[in-house]
Amino acid sequence: MQTSENILELKGVKTYFSTTKGVVKAVDDISFSIGRGEIVGLVGESGSGKSMTSLSIMGLVPQPAGKTVAGEILFHGEDLLKKNDEQMRQIRGDKISMILQDPMVSLNQILSVKYQIGEVFRYHDKSILGSLKEMCIGVLKKVKVPSPELRVNDYPFQFSGGMCQRTIIGMGIANGPDLLIADEPTTALDVTIQAQVLQLMKQVQEETNAAILMITHDLGTVAQLCTRVLVMYAGRIIEKAPVNTFYKNPSHPYAIGLIKSVPVLGRKSDRLYSIEGQPPNLLNPPTGCRFAARCEQAMPICTQEYPPEVSLEADHQVSCWLFAEKGEQ
Ligand code: SF4
Repeated sequence: MQTSENILELKGVKTYFSTTKGVVKAVDDISFSIGRGEIVGLVGESGSGKSMTSLSIMGLVPQPAGKTVAGEILFHGEDLLKKNDEQMRQIRGDKISMILQDPMVSLNQILSVKYQIGEVFRYHDKSILGSLKEMCIGVLKKVKVPSPELRVNDYPFQFSGGMCQRTIIGMGIANGPDLLIADEPTTALDVTIQAQVLQLMKQVQEETNAAILMITHDLGTVAQLCTRVLVMYAGRIIEKAPVNTFYKNPSHPYAIGLIKSVPVLGRKSDRLYSIEGQPPNLLNPPTGCRFAARCEQAMPICTQEYPPEVSLEADHQVSCWLFAEKGEQ
């Protein structure tokens, strides 16, 4: 449930990339908020702009080609887009942390686990709070790495994939962030480890009351972990809803297609459902609804104007002409 205290609020954020072929509108006018203690899922297929949204929040959009050109990213009411590099460096890894997809790549294989966890404390001048080694062991204990007193001296290549991801999560929460951004944190792990990592993230959220933005293409992860879901398509958010509402009453044709394409154990059918067609080229996105070329319910208005965001019920908004006045006409 969205709480009254918004930790993060994005208003009309646009992140564009200049290329030799033109401007790619990777994130194009998105707005949403996250309250304290919420776990919000940002879902969509590859290339929909999910990861660019997280990099925009972190101030890590690849430069010089990429830039957040418009909007506000308010963290505790302060616009992160107005912070300079040094101010952002102080926020990253302290008040906002990020967990990346592949733990084997996120950790440096030739530096010890102790060194890499310690770096999080050293960088933010928190090593003075106690013995660095003890603090690193404390982090490994928190994320349930077995025998942390011994394993703290190991190197990442001596850890399993699950232990590496636990270590990354531990580094993410080491300084007690208010917001944790997890970008596909279980994609590189096998299924049993995925379940453990998701459970750990939930536990971390309950213990720290941090807000979590969970970026994923896996609707199962969203159902297990999140309180609210944002569906992204071709650089825009097309549906926002509490998780229960979303699974009971998905409304945007793309969101309905996403749910239909999840395989269900025991359901017999010759073919798995898939949404036909491809997302539009973001170099030159269509003027109207960006899903129109793939939508079975498209109407003439859909290709002429972008649909407005309509509230279907509290906390449930959808951008589709099927629910807007002109579409009804
Ligand atoms: Fe389909 Fe039109 Fe709705 Fe887009 S606006 S999803 S094309 S019905």
